[in-house]
Amino acid sequence: MKLWEVQEGGGPEALSQREPMVSRPYLSLANNFLVLISYPIFNRSEEYLGYVGGTIYLKKPSIFNDLLGRHFHRDGSYIYVVDSNKQIIYHPESERVGEYILNNAVINSVVERHSGFIEVINSKGIDMLAGFSPIQRAHWGVVAQRPVDATLAPLDSLIKAVAFRTLPLALLTFILIWLLASYISRPLQQLAATAVEMDDPNAYQKLGQIKSWYLEVRELKLGILKGLGVVNTKISQLKEDAATDALTGAVNRRSVQVLLETMEQERIPFSVLAIDIDHFKRVNDTYGHPAGDKALVALVRVISQISRAQDVIARVGGEEFLLILPNTPIDLAEVIAERVRSRIAALQIELVGSIQVSIGIASSGRKYAAEQVLQQADIALYQAKQQGRNRCEVYVPSK
Ligand code: GH3
Ligand code: MG
Ligand code: MG
Repeated sequence: MKLWEVQEGGGPEALSQREPMVSRPYLSLANNFLVLISYPIFNRSEEYLGYVGGTIYLKKPSIFNDLLGRHFHRDGSYIYVVDSNKQIIYHPESERVGEYILNNAVINSVVERHSGFIEVINSKGIDMLAGFSPIQRAHWGVVAQRPVDATLAPLDSLIKAVAFRTLPLALLTFILIWLLASYISRPLQQLAATAVEMDDPNAYQKLGQIKSWYLEVRELKLGILKGLGVVNTKISQLKEDAATDALTGAVNRRSVQVLLETMEQERIPFSVLAIDIDHFKRVNDTYGHPAGDKALVALVRVISQISRAQDVIARVGGEEFLLILPNTPIDLAEVIAERVRSRIAALQIELVGSIQVSIGIASSGRKYAAEQVLQQADIALYQAKQQGRNRCEVYVPSK
């Protein structure tokens, strides 16, 4: 199809093609933009008879207004038409008719006979969504524009409505996830708490109570239980191997050394009681050395009756003893010390009658510096002696 222009002052040509002719708008003398439209007329024998033509005054209400003006919505959307030279031939603002728009992506596309849609900023700086399509015969392009805000407004309210409707479900989901997460993490937290309290004498029992309802926790729990078992087995082993004192059966100083080194390496926390018989010299002097020996034997027997399987009694001097309490916190060591002191004080020993002991208590905490703990227990023992004997004192670091 061929389209052609009628130049100002020019006449129609090639009428035999029977196509409507559309002129380019041109400025008339009356300062009006006009479009001339004509159509050739032929008789049955194909003879050209003449043409009918008409004029559209672009700046005045015309068929364009009837066709396109009705689409001029209150939300700021409008339609305009350009010709192939990027000149506006219809616009709802009639003063813009005749204007050339040369740097506009929409118009560039539509005059190249493309159709589509694009986001643009219009001459008033408003973000618009533009849909455009060419009119093939007339070489015109029609552009419909709508403000982005107006286009998206219904979408915003839709999103709000969706959010509002889904909120209860989202909340419910969140609560369920939270419940499930805490259900999953609770045994892990309990395991972690027990793992740092390995010196708790009830650690075994506490571990046993943790509900291991899924594989990973079960494995962890078994691992920790195994670890505790290993520690206890190690101590039993050491006790069996230890060299003992011939008189009392308590382990000797050398064995204590080995035991403490092992506990340091294995990072086993412990407490220690340093036990010394009060005025023992006097006992010996009064009842004789053999009677004193009997008192020593009786004392060790009582302590071993009180102590637990993992505890170790050592004779580290003539009438000085250590009771080593693995995995025992200081407050429990205090209870044990008081029990030892009172049971010994209540004891009736053949020939000797009763004896009393002073006890110093110290604990490794998590520092595991064994030698230092023994010194601290000695300091506490000295304080117990100073404060009148037949008593227990816990080591208090000097400021
Ligand atoms: P304190 O309350 O200050 O401890 O007074 P203490 O008399 O116990 O003081 P000290 O430690 O000086 O006396 C320890 C005494 O223990 C000296 C010694 O007669 C006695 N002793 C040490 N080894 C043995 C032993 O193997 N058998 C007997 N029967 N007595 C011993
Ligand atoms: Mg002594
Ligand atoms: Mg003594």
